[in-house]
Amino acid sequence: MKNKIIIIHYSEIGLKKGNRKFFEQKLKDNILFALSDFEEKQVILDFGRVLLLMPYETLMDEIVERIRKIPGIAHFSVAKQGSTDIGILKQQIFDDVKDRQFTTFRVETKRTDKQFPMRSMDINKEVGAVIHMELNKPVDLKNAEFVVHIEIYNQKVFYYFDRTEGTRGLPVGSSGNVVSMLSSGIDSPVASYKMMCRGCRVIFVHYHSFPFTDKTSYYNALKLAEQLTQYQLRTKIYFISLADIQQAIIERAPTKLRLILYRRMMYRLAERIAAKERAKALITGESVGQVASQTLDNIAAISQAVTMPVLRPLIGMDKESIVLEAKSIGTFSTSIEPYDDCCSFLVPRNPETHAKMHEVLAAEESISNWQELIEQALMQIEMKYMVFPN
Ligand code: ATP
Ligand code: MG
Repeated sequence: MKNKIIIIHYSEIGLKKGNRKFFEQKLKDNILFALSDFEEKQVILDFGRVLLLMPYETLMDEIVERIRKIPGIAHFSVAKQGSTDIGILKQQIFDDVKDRQFTTFRVETKRTDKQFPMRSMDINKEVGAVIHMELNKPVDLKNAEFVVHIEIYNQKVFYYFDRTEGTRGLPVGSSGNVVSMLSSGIDSPVASYKMMCRGCRVIFVHYHSFPFTDKTSYYNALKLAEQLTQYQLRTKIYFISLADIQQAIIERAPTKLRLILYRRMMYRLAERIAAKERAKALITGESVGQVASQTLDNIAAISQAVTMPVLRPLIGMDKESIVLEAKSIGTFSTSIEPYDDCCSFLVPRNPETHAKMHEVLAAEESISNWQELIEQALMQIEMKYMVFPN
């Protein structure tokens, strides 16, 4: 079996001293899982890199696409193992370079193996000279169009020409579980993705008001969770009906506080799911001032309902940047599909923007059975489990 070698460089894991092995192992497991439908692959942890060996004929584009999405990877390249003899190495590299189209080039050698007899500079010069003379191409040390990368470590030599950027961050599973409130809008999928890149496994909760609204938000959230599973590979999503809770709020609480009260109930339900899933924080897609419900006063009034930390990865981001990120992770087009939002269900045009804690608490007290309603909502919960690749 002839192999293709992919050299994977990880990002922050390299900075972890004591438990670096733990992070490396998580990354290795995730790479294996993401390629579980490919046979004959081999993943080796090798001197601060991950080497992925695949049979020669495999679908490289698909593999690159999958690895690109695994959190914890800085960049990776499809490489070849070269000779440790510089004369042979020069020839091997030249054979692979000669049919490439480029104007300027440079050679960049990284040598962590100090026993290797040549210094990086000298290797650059020798390999560069062959390409320069035989192909008549100029060297450009700063802005070369084409870069020949050579890596020497542990008595091995690898070379490659193209580099794909990874998502960076930490491997999923290295930071524990969080529960993310996933609407079918633009922000919460991006917030969830950001937590995956911090090594968290994200468990989703979506609220709907069926039968008061239709089920479009349910299906959109399901689709978003599926798309995000490409990054974390295993996903649980809980669906909870807010219908009865909302009805009680609508009947008994002041109109302008409806949205805040809905939200407090959502947070409480999410906290219960978090306890069940041993998650340590709640995640939302809120950002200060983006919409009426997200003023500092309202965020405070809503957060007061729970004791678990609520993390808001987008808190200081503007909408334009969030949209760009949603596009780049592939969730944007699903997020802009129309849906019936449970939060806008019978919410007045001018809701409270500066909630006062005592008014919120008084309004909530007027719904004497809210705790019971929460228990009932939890009894009717629906959970779906999904994996990638499936
Ligand atoms: P998004 O684009 O994420 O929906 P948004 O800007 O529309 O955010 P809101 O609708 O005010 O803002 O929602 C704020 C946050 O509350 C969301 O980012 C999400 O975390 C949570 N949320 C809103 N609606 C739902 C829902 N139906 N199910 C689960 N979480 C929700
Ligand atoms: Mg929304």
